[in-house]
Amino acid sequence: MEDKYVCPCGLTCCDCLFYNKEFFAAAGAMKRLIDEYRFDVFFAMLSKSEVSAHIASHLKRERIQFEEMCRVFERMPDFVKVLEGIIAIQCEHTCKEKNGCSIGGSTHRCEALECVNSKGIEGCWQCAEYRLCDKLAFQRRSYGKTVTENLARLEKEGPDSLRPRGNQYYEWQRKTIKANETP
Ligand code: SF4
Ligand code: SF4
Repeated sequence: MEDKYVCPCGLTCCDCLFYNKEFFAAAGAMKRLIDEYRFDVFFAMLSKSEVSAHIASHLKRERIQFEEMCRVFERMPDFVKVLEGIIAIQCEHTCKEKNGCSIGGSTHRCEALECVNSKGIEGCWQCAEYRLCDKLAFQRRSYGKTVTENLARLEKEGPDSLRPRGNQYYEWQRKTIKANETP
């Protein structure tokens, strides 16, 4: 893995959802299209019963059923706000590049980062304490085994040996994705 993605605490920015370029680009593209073509006005019109009734008759669908389906478009202004909110929280820099990330460091205090900097080491994998360190408690709560597994690999084989984890990065991702796969 490229060195810039490897954080001092053992997390990896390329797996972080705040840094997921594909997701934020899709949200940005959707917002631009809504503004350019005024999809918000279009969907607001669809949610009006006289318009939906007219379209339903053309589509030969049950009017009530179609109106029901279109009712969700009344929430288009909320959808636009959600997109704006998503766009606003994108993280464009790695922890390495900015000496801190959106969960700690540049915007909040990160004990692990401060400690690593004070010791003059590259990361916690170069410290004998990492398996039991309290300063990594926050990371362990959200990322679970990812933290210690990554640090152990970094200690043994260095940053080149790390691979992106995709949708198996956060503890809650592993739980919810596995639960969804269970028949
Ligand atoms: S700021 Fe702290 S929690 Fe965030 S990636 Fe860097 S070392 Fe890890
Ligand atoms: S004591 Fe070691 S493991 Fe804990 S935060 Fe500092 S460098 Fe990382």
